[in-house]
Amino acid sequence: MIITLDGPAGSGKSSVARRLADELGFRFLNTGAMYRAVGLLCERAGTDLGDADACGRTAAAARLAQDGDRLSVDGEDWTELVRTPAAGAAASAVAVHPPVRAALVALQRAVGEAGDTVTEGRDQGTVVFPDAALKVFLTADAEARAERRRLELLAAGRDVPLAEVLAEVTGRDDKDERRAAAPLKPAADAVRYDTTGKPLEAVVADLVALARE
Ligand code: C5P
Repeated sequence: MIITLDGPAGSGKSSVARRLADELGFRFLNTGAMYRAVGLLCERAGTDLGDADACGRTAAAARLAQDGDRLSVDGEDWTELVRTPAAGAAASAVAVHPPVRAALVALQRAVGEAGDTVTEGRDQGTVVFPDAALKVFLTADAEARAERRRLELLAAGRDVPLAEVLAEVTGRDDKDERRAAAPLKPAADAVRYDTTGKPLEAVVADLVALARE
């Protein structure tokens, strides 16, 4: 069984997906971390982030492995490395390229085929798992999303002003919504769920109930 959670930055996807997977005994796939890793790999190699073919080759050759929350590249733990705003910007730059998406979609489908999975991203319900048993599109007010992101950054030791986080989050969403390849949008059969002001526990409980329907 596959459950997809898609939505804009800071809508709570990762925290909700992780908890939902725990509750249901499913594996958890964070696809944003994969795009972030490819963005950083391209930057480190000095690859032009606008070069679709070169970025696609990097994505196809990347030795990415995900185990729950942990992401490794070539056997090295990149979980924390990919969480920075700079990695987010590199991710959304390389995510516009169809060859990059094709390489990562193949990896994501392989995880889904291996067993019950809760997966989160931007295109999981629309492109990667069109036959998912449950598709959820999470939303939240931009300010609530920016505040959530700010607290995550603070927990990681970075004190970034709210206005700066808001600009980063809304700029990235805009880019994700406008791109031609797999733009951010709800699948036609997705349940829309607004997380603004809702405690994580309440969101998870609602989604567990939906998954068990
Ligand atoms: O979810 P997260 O903020 O980590 O994603 C970083 C970026 O990766 C997004 O802004 C988006 O450009 C890209 N992404 C994507 N498709 C996914 C997951 C992430 O295009 N399934």
